[in-house]
Amino acid sequence: MLLGALEAGGTKMVASIGDEHGKIIDRASFPTLSPSETMPALIAYFKQHAIEGLGIACFGPLDLNHDSDTYGYITTTPKQGWGNYPILPELCSALGVPTEIDTDVGAAALAEFELGAAKGLGSCLYMTVGTGVGGGVIANGALVHGLVHPEVGHILLKPHPKDPTPNGFCPFHEGCLEGLAMGPSFDKRWGISSKDLPTDHIGWEIEAYYLAQLCEMAIVVLSSECIILGGGVMQQKFLFPMIREQTLKLLNGYVAHDRVLNHIDQMIVEPGLGIHSGVTGALLLGAHAARK
Ligand code: ADP
Ligand code: ZN
Repeated sequence: MLLGALEAGGTKMVASIGDEHGKIIDRASFPTLSPSETMPALIAYFKQHAIEGLGIACFGPLDLNHDSDTYGYITTTPKQGWGNYPILPELCSALGVPTEIDTDVGAAALAEFELGAAKGLGSCLYMTVGTGVGGGVIANGALVHGLVHPEVGHILLKPHPKDPTPNGFCPFHEGCLEGLAMGPSFDKRWGISSKDLPTDHIGWEIEAYYLAQLCEMAIVVLSSECIILGGGVMQQKFLFPMIREQTLKLLNGYVAHDRVLNHIDQMIVEPGLGIHSGVTGALLLGAHAARK
C-alpha cells in the first residue's frame, strides 16, 4: 500500500512516501514557513504519488477529539500562522485521501509499539529528550487521548539536591520534566552542551534522576511495560544504566513484577526503530486511515 507520511515540525516539514511496513521510497523536506507558503509545497509533493492514505505526525498541541468541530487542528502554538490551523482538514481535502493525525511523539509511540521496541506488548511510553521533552502513551493497545493528549514533558518533579537550577527552564512551570531535563537545560545550567559534558559530570547523575522519576511515574501511573527513551540527549548511551538503577531505587521494590525486578534492561530501552520512529508512525497512521 502506497502511503504518505508528514512529519510536521516547528522548523521543517518532512514529507515521505512509503508503505505500511515502514519502508520509505521517497522523501522531501520543506522549511516550516507560514501555512500559505508551506502547505502548497507539501500538497504538490504528495500529489506526485498515488497514495492511498496520509498520516500526519505533528507538533502540538492538537485537537484529536473526533467529535470536535476543530478535529485535526493545531491549537495554541506560538508558531506564527499555525495557531488554530486546520492541518488535517486542509491536507485531507486537497489530496482526497483518508488522513489520520497524532502528535509527533504519539506517532513515534505507535511505531515503537507496532514495529519497534515494544512490539508484542500491550503498552508503552515513548519519550523524546531533545530540544524539548515529550511523550506518547500506548495503553491497552491504543494511543491514549483524553481531555487532549498526554503532555508527559510537563509532569512536576522533585528537584535533585545538587541541582543549581532546581526550577528548570520551562516558561510555564517551575520544576517540570521538560524544564529540568531538555537538551538546552544543559547549556543553561552548566554553560556547556549535553554533547560535550564529560561523562563523569554530576549533570548526568541529575539528568538520570529526573528521567528515573519519569520512569517511576510511567510504571506506577500508566503501568507501562516498556519505556522507550529517544531524542538527542539519549544518544549518551551510558545514561540508560544510570536511569534504570535510579528507577529501581525510586520504586524500592514496590512493583514486585519480574519484569521490573529482573529485566529492567528490557523495560527502559532505546528506540527499536532508531531515528525512524516518527516517520514510521506517520506511515502507520496513514495505513490506519486507509483501512478505515
Ligand atoms: P529535536 O528535539 O529538535 O528533534 P534532538 O532530539 O537532536 O532534536 O535534540 C536536540 C538537543 O539534544 C540539543 O539540546 C542537543 O544539545 C542535544 N543533543 C543532540 N545530540 C546529542 C548527543 N549526541 N549527545 C547529547 N546531547 C545531544
Ligand atoms: Zn513545563
